[in-house]
Amino acid sequence: MSAMLEVKDLVVSYGKIKAVKGISFSVDEGEVVSLIGTNGAGKTTTLRTISGLLRPVSGSITFKGTDLTTVAAHDIVQLGLAHSPEGRRIFPKLTVEENLLLGAFARKDKGIRSDLEAAYALFPILQERRTQPAGTFSGGEQQMLAMGRAMMSRPKMLMLDEPSMGLSPLMMKRIMTTVSTLQSQGTTILLVEQNAQAALKRATKGYVLEVGRIVLSGTGRELLASDDVRKAYLGED
Ligand code: ATP
Repeated sequence: MSAMLEVKDLVVSYGKIKAVKGISFSVDEGEVVSLIGTNGAGKTTTLRTISGLLRPVSGSITFKGTDLTTVAAHDIVQLGLAHSPEGRRIFPKLTVEENLLLGAFARKDKGIRSDLEAAYALFPILQERRTQPAGTFSGGEQQMLAMGRAMMSRPKMLMLDEPSMGLSPLMMKRIMTTVSTLQSQGTTILLVEQNAQAALKRATKGYVLEVGRIVLSGTGRELLASDDVRKAYLGED
């Protein structure tokens, strides 16, 4: 079986700055794959390139057999790949429900209402506050909204960029539980995180990115047990 997402020898630059220096990794259907690394490692750049928001200098990105490197970002969403971006990027003046419906912009089918209900079932607070401007939400609530919005495109695969950023431990736990719920409902997940503990605990596979290169990979369990990961990412001596 071939991978659902296959990234090969990916190089991405901002002008002269090489942010991603030839990385390869894969995500199989049904997996939660975590990409961990400190600030500036190239995690966000990698996700933005997969989403078609940036173009690589070289390398390939194949999603369900299609090379994404020449496909427009909105068509990538239509292929079943959704992105919940870093910093959430919700629309503050629109209501919660309007933000959610934007996630379904590429769809023409009649299932949008029932998916809205599914998003509300996943995050009841979104339903309670559905007429409220999204800009009044707390960081954690905005994170739920961003995830809910990404799910509204009914993705086969969801990419989450640092969902735990700025969240309280309790809120983070809820977000991470939702990751497991989405996986059990059949969504494949690529999770980018600085919080290695939370991200690796749930990962079927993980990759450690350092200044644009993958320096370690393994199952979530293997990486959590690795001395290098423990020292560098879990603050242990
Ligand atoms: P963080 O967790 O801090 O967001 P990251 O692993 O997601 O880190 P990236 O945001 O992908 O890292 O950044 C990788 C490198 O590319 C960094 O050195 C960063 O300074 C650089 N970079 C990112 N965006 C730009 C840009 N628009 N122009 C120039 N350099 C950039």
